[in-house]
Amino acid sequence: MPLPIAYYGNPVLRKKTTPVEKIDASIQKLVADMIETMQAANGIGLAAPQVGQSVSIFITCIPIEEEDGTWREGEILVYINPKILRYSQELQTFSEGCLSIPKLHMDVTRPESIEIEAMNLEGQIFQKMLSGFPATNFMHENDHLNGVLIIDRIPRSEKQKLEPKLREIKKKYESKK
Ligand SMILES: [Zn+2]
Repeated sequence: MPLPIAYYGNPVLRKKTTPVEKIDASIQKLVADMIETMQAANGIGLAAPQVGQSVSIFITCIPIEEEDGTWREGEILVYINPKILRYSQELQTFSEGCLSIPKLHMDVTRPESIEIEAMNLEGQIFQKMLSGFPATNFMHENDHLNGVLIIDRIPRSEKQKLEPKLREIKKKYESKK
């Protein structure tokens, strides 16, 4: 079942999440609902706080470009209690959007690659290296678990320019909390 999305202004987006202690039926159900929510919204990532649950889980689904230039849907990945072990010195900038801040895109600079550790839905701990867009995508979702949003990752002057639009989003979605 797709869940309602928490929009900018909802305090749940600013809370630090709690780690998952045990993968039980309620966690499995939450992840299944998060997948449906992400797909219904055409998102490429979704963190639990964005559906009002303050737990350390996010999912990603990055489209893959074929050799002929067409795109196909990527694999859905589940990250539980994720940790970033190492960051590269090199930085990269991508234009990022967020389902909780509808219709706004902003250039965000982050490390170019990271080494991460997380648990999957089967309870296994895994580690991997991510670089390029998948690294940015991971850090965006991981920020949500710490109550951090993309507007916190841009220069103050840029944020000031977006302020009127942010206020609009807050107002427009206030009733949908
Ligand atoms: Zn987001």
